[in-house]
Amino acid sequence: MEFSSKLLEKAVQEMSQLPGIGKRTALRLMLHLLRQPEDQTLELAKALKAMRTDIKFCKSCNNISDQDICEICANPHRTHEIICVVEDIRDVMAIENTSSFKGLYHVLGGKISPMDGIGPNDLNIQPLVEKVKQGTVKELIFALGSTMEGDTTNFYIYKQIQDYHVTTSTIARGISVGNELEYTDEITLGRSIINRIPFEASLKS
Ligand SMILES: [Zn+2]
Repeated sequence: MEFSSKLLEKAVQEMSQLPGIGKRTALRLMLHLLRQPEDQTLELAKALKAMRTDIKFCKSCNNISDQDICEICANPHRTHEIICVVEDIRDVMAIENTSSFKGLYHVLGGKISPMDGIGPNDLNIQPLVEKVKQGTVKELIFALGSTMEGDTTNFYIYKQIQDYHVTTSTIARGISVGNELEYTDEITLGRSIINRIPFEASLKS
């Protein structure tokens, strides 16, 4: 691709690093940004910069937040005794949309996946184990989706905490194997949380 402007070329180059955005799409988007009012484009640039530099991870659950402790963890009307273990913020958003869960979350930041070189130490697992050891948590709900990586991660965490007095459950398998949580419809996901099953029972099936 031959550019008449180095500035445009650089912008297209940066944009095309994003997943699913090829050079042609990046060019189309950049030409659109050039055509729209300057203020609007600068607002986008400002939002991106603020998101990247000012965003925090909740010190308690690792969810993306604007404060040190996220709104969910800080909410006094939610029970601290039940923790739903999820992969990332998209799962928190999906479960929150169901309005079926009033406990807290713990965001792992991924799943154990030896194929991709992701081990337990690359994830936010140890703080969860520490939380359980402290004794206020009565139940952990595994909500990682029914993939092999999800199952491996659930089992790893289960092994770490099985000696402590905590109930473990997993969301009901109304969700077919391989489906990720964020694509599951709200009613199915809401039901699968309410009708969750003991984790040990899921191991036998
Ligand atoms: Zn939090």
